[in-house]
Amino acid sequence: MFIESFKVESPNVKYTENEIHSVYDYETTEVVHENRNGTYQWIVKPKSVKYDFITETRVPKLGVMLVGWGGNNGSTLTAGVIANKEGISWATKDKVQQANYFGSLTQASSIRVGSYNGEEIYAPFKSLLPMVNPDDVVFGGWDISDMNLADAMARARVLDIDLQKQLRPYMENMIPLPGIYDPDFIAANQGSRANSVIKGTKKEQVDHIIKDMREFKEKNKVDKLVVLWTANTERYSNVIVGLNDTMENLLASVEKDESEISPSTLYAIACVLEGIPFINGSPQNTFVPGLIELAISKNCLIGGDDFKSGQTKMKSVLVDFLVGAGIKPTSIVSYNHLGNNDGMNLSAPQTFRSKEISKSNVVDDMVASNGILFEPGEHPDHVVVIKYVPYVADSKRAMDEYTSEIFMGGRNTIVMHNTCEDSLLAAPIILDLVLLAELSTRIQFKAEGEGKFHSFHPVATILSYLTKAPLVPPGTPVVNALSKQRAMLENILRACVGLAPENNMIMEYK
Ligand code: NAD
Repeated sequence: MFIESFKVESPNVKYTENEIHSVYDYETTEVVHENRNGTYQWIVKPKSVKYDFITETRVPKLGVMLVGWGGNNGSTLTAGVIANKEGISWATKDKVQQANYFGSLTQASSIRVGSYNGEEIYAPFKSLLPMVNPDDVVFGGWDISDMNLADAMARARVLDIDLQKQLRPYMENMIPLPGIYDPDFIAANQGSRANSVIKGTKKEQVDHIIKDMREFKEKNKVDKLVVLWTANTERYSNVIVGLNDTMENLLASVEKDESEISPSTLYAIACVLEGIPFINGSPQNTFVPGLIELAISKNCLIGGDDFKSGQTKMKSVLVDFLVGAGIKPTSIVSYNHLGNNDGMNLSAPQTFRSKEISKSNVVDDMVASNGILFEPGEHPDHVVVIKYVPYVADSKRAMDEYTSEIFMGGRNTIVMHNTCEDSLLAAPIILDLVLLAELSTRIQFKAEGEGKFHSFHPVATILSYLTKAPLVPPGTPVVNALSKQRAMLENILRACVGLAPENNMIMEYK
């Protein structure tokens, strides 16, 4: 049975006018390697830690500024939200299609709440805690192309034409602000698009972005802003001692107009200096060490990298299944071809390299988790190929071959072919990223023994379900397995309303 909303009744949970307080027992285990009676043994000690969570329930008016607003993702997301808000439907050759938020974890997935009369009760994911309604988000942003969003939507060739016609009046007056352009960081084939750029030194460019954000907030009367990079993939920037390795060096390098500071890092610096969450949806290393240090010192949320939309999402499910089933993946080969502007940009070796790196580490944690299948340091062969094929436009093809060793030396090969409009996968993920980033800034917590409440670590691992190469604080394990990432997010939000983690034991029926 499906219910729309619920309220938790528990001595550990208190709803006040503006907050939910929850006292929560976090059950975990501590592992020690100790000498017992002359031999070293692994000892596992269950432990319970009391946590206090406070969630502010007042939902702000949210502004979202996209870097690369006029791109396929930016225009598709904007169009999709307007279509939902206005309740637009359109005729396809199959049926009359209603706008929806399919593909969004927050808007279109559900959670199990409990049992009622022998029946499982489910509720919308978004009913866990008060979240911003996407229909109420004010969108804006920057692009190095001055094309209005209606024309950008047509250029993207993603949405049905009947829908585009209805959306045009809402979108023709949406014009991206000029962006920071540095041809050294993206493919040369993007040059002809760059007709709306911010001039000046790097310092002046950062100041310009800060001014844009302040004006956007003021003009649209939004309480909070989140900025997300969905612009072209950049090449990696070199991390150099003295240049961008520390916060001081990075800020000094901006003052000195150092050429190796990328546009994406400049946008991120502007956001962090303003205390505005910044999320990177592309694979490049926007978050150089100096920027991470800056975000930590300002306690400003940063999240990334690279949307986990299609092939990698499947990979982080399939390899988790194989390794979890005791099957040994030995070779993973992934081909992609796509014909949109992202594909054209990725046809340059230096930008492709960023994507290759981002896609390459996604099975590491699963492989490392099984010492029966893999020797320490052993990895499956893992190859990623991306080709630009203009004809297929945004309809990306992903072909994967997984070869595994099975029982008694047998070999199993699974081949998968995935065809899908890339931007229709990415747009709901962008929505989830900004909504969850906003929500996470309203949560404070402390463990027993900790004096003061604090927010999550500024490097937002809570968003990792949505990113291909999750950015984590130094010294923190990276989790790529999709089901673990989803469980982490859901269980943390459950803790905020005093619900036990979803353990799937369902003892009620045993
Ligand atoms: P796109 O090329 O259609 O859009 C990118 C936009 O960014 C363009 O309009 C471009 O003019 C603009 N731009 C480039 N540099 C800029 C700058 N410095 N400042 C402001 N604007 C700038 O690409 P897309 O298909 O929308 O994808 C966007 C990004 O998302 C790409 O980097 C892509 O790799 C990444 N991504 C997409 C998916 C997906 O499923 N669609 C998945 C993972 C990552």
